[in-house]
Amino acid sequence: MGFHDFLGNERIVRALGGMLRRERVPNALLFTGPRGIGKYTLARMFAAAANCERLPDDFCGECASCLRMAPLAEPVPLIEAGLTQRGESVDSAAVERTPLIVETHPDVWLIVPDPVRLRAPVARPMIRVGQLRAVQRAASYRPQGRRRVFILDGADSMRWDDSDLLLKILEEPPETATLILLALSPDSLQTTIRSRCLQFHLAPVPTAQIEEFLKHRLRAKPEERRLAAQLSAGSPGAALAMDLEQSTRLRKSILALLEQAAAGEKYAEIFAATARLAKQEKESFESILELFYSLFTDILECGQVAGRLPRNPDLRREIELLSKKADWNWVRRATHNLDTLEGSLRRNVGRQLGLDSLLASLSLR
Ligand SMILES: [Zn+2]
Repeated sequence: MGFHDFLGNERIVRALGGMLRRERVPNALLFTGPRGIGKYTLARMFAAAANCERLPDDFCGECASCLRMAPLAEPVPLIEAGLTQRGESVDSAAVERTPLIVETHPDVWLIVPDPVRLRAPVARPMIRVGQLRAVQRAASYRPQGRRRVFILDGADSMRWDDSDLLLKILEEPPETATLILLALSPDSLQTTIRSRCLQFHLAPVPTAQIEEFLKHRLRAKPEERRLAAQLSAGSPGAALAMDLEQSTRLRKSILALLEQAAAGEKYAEIFAATARLAKQEKESFESILELFYSLFTDILECGQVAGRLPRNPDLRREIELLSKKADWNWVRRATHNLDTLEGSLRRNVGRQLGLDSLLASLSLR
């Protein structure tokens, strides 16, 4: 066991090991990259390596420190246990008063956006002031091992007002503590926060590597594993969690929507479909927008390079049909409007309204 188990992004992994070896560990790291790329796994590995009793710059998986950290590999049961203790559907004051902290090792904390959406979402999950205050206090304690590590998953979920407190922690960092912030993109954090972190952006893992990784982890036919790897856009975690049937259904319905939108007709049907898309809960709305992007890119590439369809290889027929009707300008307009829609979501403009205006703008007539 060790850093070599991490899939992809070898240079980043080497850089992290090097910091530990030279005992020059920053007080704040920022890992960014799409969902499922391995940000949390890498943070967990770093925390283990920073405290391993046998190795100075890697983790053995067998010493007392590594064993205490092992349950963090499956955080959901730990979060569930924390929620059972506190009570899941509590009011926001209680969420602040009893901050949710996952801790299996005295020096390593995992902080996740709260309230956790396990069953009934009551409010938007975000990192809370209460959690940050607890981190601030705990960061100043001396570690029992070598280093205190605080993993802040979904660091981009916190309110911008609350991030002042985080900034304060980052401005006066205790020597023996490291905060690891995990976020989808660096732009989703304030510049003041970002600039105090050593940043690492995790790049997509090559499809062949993901396919190999799935071999021992996913019971499926070889062609299904290949498709899951191709659809994952370079995220091993996404490939592993992929529901192929659901994904195909969803992408087909989006393609059908795009075709109707291009034809500039049946708006009642389009708007009914966007309402369903905006409300469905299996996939996050952000990942639905990612599907739009991946389809637009394939439509564009399909028109330019014959035979190339890297993102949606299973929908070749449908995409080729649409690419014959749509041209470069159409796709450019579509992705531009999609960017606008993504931006407006941060300002809480309605999802369905945003999708409606996107599709209404795509008429080719
Ligand atoms: Zn160890």
